Amino acid sequence: FKTFDANKARRDFPILSSKINGQALIYLDNAATTQKPRCVIDALSRFYKLSNSNVHRGSHTLSNRATSDFEAARETVAGFINAAYSQEIIWTRGATEAINLIAHAFADTQLRAGDTVLVSVMEHHANIVPWQQIAIKNKAQVIPIPLTPEGRLDLIAYQQLLNQFQPKIVAITHVSNALGVINPVVDITRMAKSVGATVVIDGAQAIAHEVVDVQQIGCDFYLFSGHKCYGPTGIGVLWGRKALLEEMPPWQCGGEMIERVSFAGTTFNTLPFKFEAGTPPIADAIAFAEALRYLNSWDRKAIAKHEQALRQQAVALCQKIEGVTVLAAAPDNVGILSFIVDGVHPQDLATLLDQSGIAIRSGHHCTMPLMEYLGCSGTIRASFALYNTAAEVELFAGVLKQYISQLRNTALPFAASGADL
Ligand code: PMP
Repeated sequence: FKTFDANKARRDFPILSSKINGQALIYLDNAATTQKPRCVIDALSRFYKLSNSNVHRGSHTLSNRATSDFEAARETVAGFINAAYSQEIIWTRGATEAINLIAHAFADTQLRAGDTVLVSVMEHHANIVPWQQIAIKNKAQVIPIPLTPEGRLDLIAYQQLLNQFQPKIVAITHVSNALGVINPVVDITRMAKSVGATVVIDGAQAIAHEVVDVQQIGCDFYLFSGHKCYGPTGIGVLWGRKALLEEMPPWQCGGEMIERVSFAGTTFNTLPFKFEAGTPPIADAIAFAEALRYLNSWDRKAIAKHEQALRQQAVALCQKIEGVTVLAAAPDNVGILSFIVDGVHPQDLATLLDQSGIAIRSGHHCTMPLMEYLGCSGTIRASFALYNTAAEVELFAGVLKQYISQLRNTALPFAASGADL
């Protein structure tokens, strides 16, 4: 295994040489969105400069060029997650839209009164609320799987819930955005399949860190966003098993997704177009494929080790600071570090860190049920990407220590107001 040269990679990301509030930017908010390498930014502008045109219906050169680049991007994504067929790759606006698509086009047709959708306590709201809405409509229920004290999915409780409720759908995140915990998705899937459930894996936080093989996982749906994986915003992917996607009715309707329209009735396009109504985010899909090529140009295992090492370094440094509690401190988590500080409001800390050019996130991270479960209203989250360095972690921990002692001596607005997050 080779060590990963983050300093070399940094040169590919123009934004990283910015100054924020007069200080060199230390970007540790990668779980919210990653920065973009020059090749992705260039792919976007190259498309608009040289190929801009609508796809699929054109009979001119530009349209043909846009179509072939757009469809080649689909092939790239299929290869990246080892999908058996590129028609199984549906472009969406992001992970959120992908889950909504499954909820409306699949769950809505499957759930009956009394049925269960199993999720986990650690899910992002995007993997809770769409199920709740469809469950209400169908008089079904959404049940959460609890966690172990270390913040891992409680597999014993999971097995019991599978036996008790025989869920129709199990929808679990591959990696927790709030804790960085990696869920054993192969086991989770196998266990769910043994009671006949359909398995949805939310890969939003995994795709940039783990090597994902949808066939090896064995799940039915896997989804993610481009922007958390060095690609543009506004593009995401839903992968689904071809046989399932073929059976599903369309969700959003309009141009592209039809075969033939008449007032006597409409027939629908084949996969994947049946689920892609309207003009798709063409430049974004092409630029996302560029991001995946960029990621694959590095040794992915070395990147994962690098990110885990940064996290471990940050955990060790933070644990030395009085009053800091690191949540789910397991060493094998992806590069996400969540912690709370006694007597210090996360928002106050985030505001101060920003003055030192350090971008982190504070709050509930769209995981309110998890926060409630952990007994806190929010955490401070530092999340690492391939371009972060040990020197940045060192600086972050030093500044953090300084601000924590400063905050202990002065009541800043959020702590003083007792504001919830
Ligand atoms: N699931 C998880 C685990 C996430 O972290 C996020 C984004 N924070 C989402 C889903 C939703 O992704 P998006 O906002 O890009 O649709």
